[in-house]
Amino acid sequence: MAALPFPFLRENVSLAPFTTWRIGGPARFLAEPPAEALPGLLAWARAGGLPVWILGRGSNVLIDDDGLPGLIILTRNIWQDIRREGDCLVAGAGASLPRLSKAAAAEGFSGYEFYIGIPGTVGGAVFMNAGFGPGDPRDTRAVLVDVELVRPDGDSVRAAVADLHMDYRHSILQDADGPFADAIVTRARFRLEHPGDAASIRDETREHLADRKRKQPLTRPTAGSVFRASDGVPAAIHIDRAGLKGFRIGDACVSPKHANWIENLGKASAADVRALIRHVRETVHAIFGVTLEPEVREMGG
Ligand SMILES: Cc1cc2nc3c(=O)[nH]c(=O)nc-3n(C[C@H](O)[C@H](O)[C@H](O)COP(=O)(O)OP(=O)(O)OC[C@H]3O[C@@H](n4cnc5c(N)ncnc54)[C@H](O)[C@@H]3O)c2cc1C
Repeated sequence: MAALPFPFLRENVSLAPFTTWRIGGPARFLAEPPAEALPGLLAWARAGGLPVWILGRGSNVLIDDDGLPGLIILTRNIWQDIRREGDCLVAGAGASLPRLSKAAAAEGFSGYEFYIGIPGTVGGAVFMNAGFGPGDPRDTRAVLVDVELVRPDGDSVRAAVADLHMDYRHSILQDADGPFADAIVTRARFRLEHPGDAASIRDETREHLADRKRKQPLTRPTAGSVFRASDGVPAAIHIDRAGLKGFRIGDACVSPKHANWIENLGKASAADVRALIRHVRETVHAIFGVTLEPEVREMGG
């Protein structure tokens, strides 16, 4: 077998352990590169005609059972630095959101408590505009200043938050025909704006976690909310009213605790989850005339 061209590259790596659903086949190549090696890695993938995917903590993705036939860049163990620069926090795209939340609290600033229970990375949060529900001001757009991106051709570019056109669970990074299509977030700068006293930050953080424990099925593999709200109405309301809580295909099950979450009861496949998503969409549409759009991003297939 030919030697791999980079020390941070591996071949045929199962992706299921790198997703919160614990679902997905192997990556043909998986890389965890230092940021300065990214342009060379992307040039290598381009020369080999390999499609490229970027994976943070895999908490909002459904990876196909056949895996991904290209290069997966995994950030959860790299690009980890979080440091203060003036009145900002600068974080590597692989840093976890709970770490970012704690770093802001340690600097004595509030406004980051909502990140404590979101198990994603900084890069995934920018891509998704992670935050609270529709209409709630607590989301990534509210605290972000700008990001550093690497384009597929290896060029680096900085984009201000206004350039990212962030909206409910959307940024322009998701638009295949947008100016930053397939760009990789390597670093993000966040505003430290609201000084807060340690006790109230701690209390609000605790309340966030307790609220999640009460409402969300946190003891099984899931990917958080599966569907986006439609016209401001949470998808869970339609799914619950359609009587789908507990409905199951294979080992994929509409959570009895939170109707917009799908639990992996053990050996769920991507095919099970896809079939369940289709069933939920069709049922809700047939009863209420509402078309639910997935929030979860599909990779491969
Ligand atoms: C228990 C649980 C609770 C959750 N609660 C919430 C919540 O309250 N609010 C919320 O908004 N979400 C929530 N989520 C969903 C998820 O955590 C967020 O969407 C998070 O921002 C995804 O980050 P990630 O690193 O896991 O991204 P991944 O799932 O790895 O990737 C998601 C998308 O982002 C892209 N991406 C990731 N990193 C980069 C990068 N560096 N550059 C470019 N693109 C990138 C990927 O290619 C993919 O398309 C929850 C999920 C779980 C499992």
